Amino acid sequence: MSVQQLCVLGATGSIGASTLDVVAQHPERYEVFALSGHRRLNELAELCCRFRPVYAAVPDEASARQLRLLLEDAESIPEILIGEGGLEAIAADPRVDTVMAAIVGAAGLKPTLAAVKAGKRVLLANKEALVMSGALFIEAVRASGATLLPIDSEHNAIFQCLADPASPGLTRKGVRRILLTASGGPFRQTPAEQLIGVTPDQACAHPKWSMGRKISVDSATLMNKGLELIEACWLFEATPEQVEVVIHPQSVIHSLVDYVDGSVLAQLGNPDMRTPIAHAMAWPERIDSGVAALDLFDIARLEFERPDEERFPCLRLAREAAQAGGCMPATLNAANEVAVEAFLEGRLGFTEIPQLIESVLASAEPRPAKDLAAIFAADTTARQLAREWLARR
Ligand code: NDP
Ligand code: MG
Repeated sequence: MSVQQLCVLGATGSIGASTLDVVAQHPERYEVFALSGHRRLNELAELCCRFRPVYAAVPDEASARQLRLLLEDAESIPEILIGEGGLEAIAADPRVDTVMAAIVGAAGLKPTLAAVKAGKRVLLANKEALVMSGALFIEAVRASGATLLPIDSEHNAIFQCLADPASPGLTRKGVRRILLTASGGPFRQTPAEQLIGVTPDQACAHPKWSMGRKISVDSATLMNKGLELIEACWLFEATPEQVEVVIHPQSVIHSLVDYVDGSVLAQLGNPDMRTPIAHAMAWPERIDSGVAALDLFDIARLEFERPDEERFPCLRLAREAAQAGGCMPATLNAANEVAVEAFLEGRLGFTEIPQLIESVLASAEPRPAKDLAAIFAADTTARQLAREWLARR
């Protein structure tokens, strides 16, 4: 077995940390070729000392200078690349086998696509990239022969429950529907009138998962599940109608596949991202992830509820964007990114997040997602509309 050369885009984040934790457990299998960070340069410097990558990628020249300073006394200093070009270069480098795409948001699209186009084994955590570019992304995977493996725990579970994930079309696989589970987030039981006053810290205190702040807010609004619905449609060739969201507060079942013969397959495990990461890193083999064995006696009961789209309209907005197709999912994603940022900065109320997104979706022109330029144009317009909404309210 040759050692896999790994590039981690978004190494300083939560998924980055879990990935490097798995890597550290298997030094005979994985070597870190490149790491990227954005603002947390101290953390990036520590990771460079520990994993000794050939390259480190940062946003700009000032960050590069700072990283160089931080690494002054390091035994091994990586070559430092800057900007989007740097991210694309490390993702597509011919020496890289596997790319962990774990940048958050639209910023991850171009580097992730660079990895896809270079035919890499792409471990996809950056769901926003696939939501934005859908058909184009999947077409690029086909054209290059890249291997796309889902990291999102639900999609990784579905992948594991599909007998032949590579064959096209859900119906041909005998699948009736996909049951996408959701924890329900920190406000699952919060009455509508109390949602108005919830704070960023309350929204980020997820009951089951420890994650970056953007996805934590998305989990609280259920937009995360909406983005995941769109993600599932592209990954598994499903229609939005074939994906049903099920609230499952224990977060032990990570999703299910319902077959036409009445069989329902599920993947279970403790809620720890190292499981899907280790699965995707080693697939089709299995390796130890460091996650404790599931104790069913300790869990004792599993519960299921229907999502409440009155309190959490983001789920409906995402489904509508998926049905509209074209650039609408990119518009949804961009409006959501602006709304979440404004909420985290205290400039927008929690219940205003779906209001802002709905208004942007209503004002955006439906356009086909014919190329990347059209997708980025929709992204830019949506951000502009979102900022105007924020300014006039
Ligand atoms: P974090 O916020 O913890 O990490 C995000 C990473 O992206 C960091 O390395 C950050 O750098 C980097 N980054 C942020 N902005 C930019 C930018 N403009 N350009 C380049 N890099 C940037 O997020 P998570 O790790 O939680 O999530 C990462 C992705 O994985 C998201 O798409 C999320 O939806 C998905 N995901 C996460 C899960 C989880 O459990 N955390 C579960 C399933 C999916 P820095 O920190 O140095 O600023
Ligand atoms: Mg998920």
